[in-house]
Amino acid sequence: MDFEKLAEVYEKLEKTSSGNTMREILSEFFRKVPKDDLALVSYLTLGQIASEYESVILGMAEKSVLKAITTAGAIDSSKVKKIMQETGDAGLTAEKVLQKKPRTLVPLSKLTIDELFEKLHKIAKTSGSGSQDLKTNILASLLQKSSSKGAKYITRIALGTLRMGVGDMTVLDALAIAYTEDKSNKKILEKAYNICPDVGVIAETLAKKGLKGIENIDVHIGRPIKMMLGQRVKALEEIGEKIPGEVTVEAKYDGERIQAHKDKKGKINLFSRRLDNITDQFPDLVKYLDEAINEKEFVVEGEVIAVDNDEKPLPFQTLMQRRRKYDIEEYVKKIPIQFKIFDILHLNGKSYLNIPYYKRAETLEKIVKKNKEIKLTERIITDDLGKTNDFFKKMLKSGYEGVIVKSRAEDSFYQAGTRGWNWIKWKKEYVKEMVDTFDLVIVGAFYGKGRRSGTYGALLCAAYNEDKDFFETFCKLGTGLSDEVLAELPKKLEKFKVEKKPARLIIKKEMEADVWFEPKIVVEVFGAEITKSPFHSLGLALRFPRFVRFREDKKAEQATTVKEIEDLQ
Ligand code: ATP
Repeated sequence: MDFEKLAEVYEKLEKTSSGNTMREILSEFFRKVPKDDLALVSYLTLGQIASEYESVILGMAEKSVLKAITTAGAIDSSKVKKIMQETGDAGLTAEKVLQKKPRTLVPLSKLTIDELFEKLHKIAKTSGSGSQDLKTNILASLLQKSSSKGAKYITRIALGTLRMGVGDMTVLDALAIAYTEDKSNKKILEKAYNICPDVGVIAETLAKKGLKGIENIDVHIGRPIKMMLGQRVKALEEIGEKIPGEVTVEAKYDGERIQAHKDKKGKINLFSRRLDNITDQFPDLVKYLDEAINEKEFVVEGEVIAVDNDEKPLPFQTLMQRRRKYDIEEYVKKIPIQFKIFDILHLNGKSYLNIPYYKRAETLEKIVKKNKEIKLTERIITDDLGKTNDFFKKMLKSGYEGVIVKSRAEDSFYQAGTRGWNWIKWKKEYVKEMVDTFDLVIVGAFYGKGRRSGTYGALLCAAYNEDKDFFETFCKLGTGLSDEVLAELPKKLEKFKVEKKPARLIIKKEMEADVWFEPKIVVEVFGAEITKSPFHSLGLALRFPRFVRFREDKKAEQATTVKEIEDLQ
């Protein structure tokens, strides 16, 4: 397929500020895309060239991109620099420069999506000495081969800044409309996407095998599964109502969730909550798991925590120091870890997703050889809320966050990507008078005054509406931001700045921000109370919001949902 067709769609998407129009544009386009190109088109619509978990990162430096534009346009680099200064955007610069493309450079054939995809992958893979020049040359050839409009978008993809406002759920919606003529089928796609978070695979399977093919999608070792999450309640008694009878009560650790996949070749891959491949950060965990579970293939999940020499848990912040690209071995020694396993999703060719929790736990008991570094979660089995409460207090004394109560019913399956009532968390914050913390997405900001001039005075934060795939504002956050955080903010947010309100953000006119951001950065916010509010699109506001920390481990769509907030009312 000709890339120009996709560039036309990008242009339409860029102009709209309505989520629904976006879906219509996309579904209409998807109908026309040849089946073999649909996977590529789905990735490219999201500004990616592979599924997110594959961590194929383009992110070329601006300098190299400008060099490519100079070569492609066969003009003086000072002219390109000047246009860049005027427009402030490399995409617009490419468009402007290449409008005046010399006739001699007009290509004989058109740029296809296939070729674009292949060359972008080549750019991503090229490394080592001389790689910068090679990357620049490949990009220049792509820019030459496309129209000036196409060049604008290729430049942005290469820089990693194609901010169309399209999320993966928008793509699923559009696919359901395009291929089944029934929007409600998105639910089936979403369920499959939770097990296979790869829009390319979903798109191609739907186009080639229909909904039946989608329903047959199962666990695939090496491809992360979206993680199951827990609900929260306001009072301990509610747990008994939501999960009657005997339950498993487990310690809730404040570490990082990890899903470990071992394939037939013996390779172990570790995935984070965001489904990023973080294997390189934990060579020690790979080794411990290999020693502790002597099985050919498995997918297990647990929480990794930092511990001191007496195996006492250390704070989350200490563990976060293990999140690094360099000096990994040094930090393996400096900050020892422990992995508390609580689930199994696959074992030797068999999916465990639809096996009740108590049986999954029994399997873990059988296959895990516990040692100093690999443990199963501490737990009790009880039908007595009093005992649950005693265990909860004991866990707090041990330095943990609280407990997670898990259903042992015959239908207590692993609900991938879902915050269901099979797991209920009960944390220390709940027993004090305060509400809790919320993970909210930064969608806008207001300029600061006085001491805060030059940075932002307050951030507009939103929750995620899962049903409708949009974001609704919930608070203006200005408290708790330390001087360090304030100084860091403009730089951290710069990458996500967009000119107008993102299409998937719903606001009330009172919340017109000075600056808008593509919903990407998640912050944990503590709040004292939830009140009704005519100013926030959610209809509720968080009172006295206070910044706690950035949640780099969460994506925008993993923020606290509108439903969760409404349920706390
Ligand atoms: P929080 O902000 O409280 O960490 P969350 O939004 O990250 O919550 P929740 O569904 O609220 O996610 O809580 C589940 C998280 O708790 C899991 O993602 C996991 O990282 C962690 N966890 C710790 N111990 C356990 C356990 N025994 N079973 C399941 N999850 C656990």
